[in-house]
Amino acid sequence: MKKVLVLASRNKAKLEELRRILEGMDWEVISAEAAGVQGEAEENGETFEENAFLKAEYVCKASGLAAVADDSGLCVDALGGRPGVYSARYAEGSDDDRIDKLLSELGEVPDEKRTARFVSAVCCVFPDGEKISVRGECEGRIAFERHGNGGFGYDPVFVSEKGSFGELTAEEKDGISHRGRALEKFKAEIMKRNEK
Ligand code: IMP
Repeated sequence: MKKVLVLASRNKAKLEELRRILEGMDWEVISAEAAGVQGEAEENGETFEENAFLKAEYVCKASGLAAVADDSGLCVDALGGRPGVYSARYAEGSDDDRIDKLLSELGEVPDEKRTARFVSAVCCVFPDGEKISVRGECEGRIAFERHGNGGFGYDPVFVSEKGSFGELTAEEKDGISHRGRALEKFKAEIMKRNEK
């Protein structure tokens, strides 16, 4: 029988991505909603790892099942690593408003100093108290203007080795993205646990 893994997120795209990555393994991934979990953890950690742990721990305790969560964001070197864990709350309003603020804060900072990385921390908490914690990163630069309108969040201004995230297909992005990399590491770790 398949073991159940609860994803601590309301995001359907993340649920599908995790299902794709764990396909063929003996884990069935369900949403927190399907597990009957009410409410969610407060994300008041100072690091991506802490926030991912807080979210996973909350859902594990509420459901009695293994739970996995991710926390991600954009770290820009010229801004001392900001917006970092505050990426979703960097500016009021929409993704577009947050991109506008980022471009205006960076102003005329030259291309070679516009280095940045997307970071994703994935944490899984098991009812027996065990924990898996992994991190994936994707290096790039912040463009001077938007390129493409695919993806979400800061994608249109993040230029990776394969080009702007706003112009990549979902498959191209998954292959090099911070979350894709963190989830692949998570898969390797959960496979080790299966072998125990
Ligand atoms: P969360 O971890 O899903 O809450 O994401 C935090 C925030 O980081 C999002 O709201 C986005 O602003 C930003 N972010 C995280 N991953 C990506 C990405 O792959 N592309 C663009 N923005 C991202």
